[in-house]
Amino acid sequence: MEKYIDAHTHIHFPAFKADIKEVLERAKTVGVRMITVGTQNSTSKSAVEFAKKNPGWVWATAGFHPGHFATEWHHDKNEQAETEPEVFDLAKLREIALAPEVVAIGECGLDYFRIPEEDLETRKMQKEGFIAQLHLSRDLKKPLMIHCRSAFPDLIEILERHKESLNSPAGAIHFFAGNPEEAKKLLDLGFVFTFGGVTTFSRDYDEVIKFLPVQNILPETDAPYVAPNPYRGKRNEPSYVIETIKKLAELKGLSAEEFGKISFETAERVFRLRSI
Ligand SMILES: [Zn+2]
Repeated sequence: MEKYIDAHTHIHFPAFKADIKEVLERAKTVGVRMITVGTQNSTSKSAVEFAKKNPGWVWATAGFHPGHFATEWHHDKNEQAETEPEVFDLAKLREIALAPEVVAIGECGLDYFRIPEEDLETRKMQKEGFIAQLHLSRDLKKPLMIHCRSAFPDLIEILERHKESLNSPAGAIHFFAGNPEEAKKLLDLGFVFTFGGVTTFSRDYDEVIKFLPVQNILPETDAPYVAPNPYRGKRNEPSYVIETIKKLAELKGLSAEEFGKISFETAERVFRLRSI
């Protein structure tokens, strides 16, 4: 049976609390393995616990999402059971990230999308938090899982300045929404790029997907968010990654099986999935 990868998902989030077994079963039925991504210490911990229970099917990441470095708390009930914001604690994150199930540090990065231009304090917190996680990635020899929105110039500046601290491969840029020029710089730094459900209903990413080498492209769902066509508007889940694989394959002039195989091997290479 074919093996596919959902390179960035959140199957362990509260959004799946009621039916996580069925959701995982549906993914297994179509051969979808997954990397379930932590976004703060609590969700990184639960990602590891879920991966431990599902060896060979689920791997985890540990990180602190840039959206959680903010002067104002954005509470997402799909993600957080907590009623209070969590404070970035690098020592605790490091402890969680040491688990063998953790195949990357993140999601970490920069997200200026919701930040007003004048809020320099939040930008500063995000940059410092990202650099701390970049060093953690170096120390633990685990690649980065980067989230970047509306902040590619600053992200690239930080990565180029810390070039010697990056692993080889350096990691994945999750749901890449930059331009081909930025893609080129990130490629040179040793990154691969994930694309999700949006590619099935928007043509905005076609150009950059066509530009990138096929060995540097990974499919993702980012479930429970942004479901692909024909599930658009519903809660997303890992089994739906097949729709994104079909679209990415088409853009690269390959069959879904061929692209599925290549991208699974890319995930194995970048995240060293075989060693766990
Ligand atoms: Zn995510």
